[in-house]
Amino acid sequence: MDFKLTEEQQLLKKNIGDFAREELAPMVREIDEKGGFSWEVWRKLASLGIPGLAAPEEYGGEGVESLLTQTMVVEELARHDFSSAANVVSNWSIMHVLTVGNEEQKERYLKPLSTGESVGAFAQTEPDAGSDVVALRTSARLEDGYYIINGDKCFVTQAGEADFTIVMARTSNEKGANGISALLVDKDAPGLILGQKEDKMGYRGSTTRQVSFSDCRVPASNLLGEEGKGLKTAMKMLTGGRVLTAAQALGQAQAALDASVKHAKERVQFGKPIGSFQLIQGMIADMAIQIESARLLTYYAAWLKDNDQPFISYASMAKTLATDTAMKVAVDAVQIYGGYGFMRDYPVESIMRNVKITQIYEGTNQIQRLIIARDLLDERASFRDMYGQSKA
Ligand SMILES: Cc1cc2nc3c(=O)[nH]c(=O)nc-3n(C[C@H](O)[C@H](O)[C@H](O)COP(=O)(O)OP(=O)(O)OC[C@H]3O[C@@H](n4cnc5c(N)ncnc54)[C@H](O)[C@@H]3O)c2cc1C
Repeated sequence: MDFKLTEEQQLLKKNIGDFAREELAPMVREIDEKGGFSWEVWRKLASLGIPGLAAPEEYGGEGVESLLTQTMVVEELARHDFSSAANVVSNWSIMHVLTVGNEEQKERYLKPLSTGESVGAFAQTEPDAGSDVVALRTSARLEDGYYIINGDKCFVTQAGEADFTIVMARTSNEKGANGISALLVDKDAPGLILGQKEDKMGYRGSTTRQVSFSDCRVPASNLLGEEGKGLKTAMKMLTGGRVLTAAQALGQAQAALDASVKHAKERVQFGKPIGSFQLIQGMIADMAIQIESARLLTYYAAWLKDNDQPFISYASMAKTLATDTAMKVAVDAVQIYGGYGFMRDYPVESIMRNVKITQIYEGTNQIQRLIIARDLLDERASFRDMYGQSKA
């Protein structure tokens, strides 16, 4: 086993960490209070090529294919600015789905996403279809060279900011998961209706809205990939997104540990720094054990992908362990801070609010556990067919 990072990875990790600390961290509090996607931050990220890091060079990206390298970049960003890390992952995931598009679609949609001129959105979840994605009801009917879309999507990240949205819609009522297609819907498409901006607990540096479609017309040429293959393709492409969600959680967990160590050394009670009390020491040691374990599993899942090994179950394990760890670590960090931890002026309060979402999106941790268990038990559930399998 070789745990050594390449020189390129070490340098990238350091550069991203320095950039996030100096350029992004000072803006986090204001954005958290205001709520919403910040184009100013996005342009700063674009100045380093981060929005397009994972995109092919011919489409304006940096061509960094390694999931392990991407994981480290996200972790470093998340250490200082959770929303930027999550926004970048959302953008990369959309780009991955777009790579099944034809040349014209890639030129038109992928390039501006890579350079950071635009940002994309992905609309799958519906008010009555979250974990149960196959239950989605938004329909797309082909008529005279146009798809006519009707239905409601919720929790769409970057809706209203994005130049286009990849919409998962039912093109056949009979075929279950194989009746769902991906369509590219431009921001100004007639019949696209944006809902109110959601007011969220955490991940506040993003814009989240409901999006409705009322006889929304898009040209048939906006079909992304093959008809009926939309959901399966997206699910397969988005598996890497689970590892990157683990990285978001790890970055925040590490920030919580760093802050806790600092506070434990500085805060004096009973005439001693609280870090000298064994109960506090135990919490700090447990945080470190859990973070290091989660980091190893996350890097391993990314390494498996980079080495063309089956990694679907490992991506789910990494996502579950890292995000559950981050939640626990964040709660403990607030405890170590005592009453100050409950105050917005101290860093651990927002960490506790941010990491909660990592247990929910990219498939809840209950769904990840189902994927892992069903893979082990080798069940032939339709659910498992949808999410893929780790064994051939
Ligand atoms: C901030 C934010 C951003 C998001 N961004 C996007 C986006 O850009 N695009 C998009 O399409 N979606 C997005 N989502 C939606 C997100 O992916 C869903 O919220 C998530 O998949 C869960 O779906 P749900 O909220 O409907 O919960 P539900 O599916 O209703 O789940 C509720 C609870 O039941 C559990 N549960 C459900 N089914 C099972 C089962 N079979 N066994 C055991 N437990 C189960 C879940 O784990 C959960 O605890 C976002 C959500 C949030 C909050």
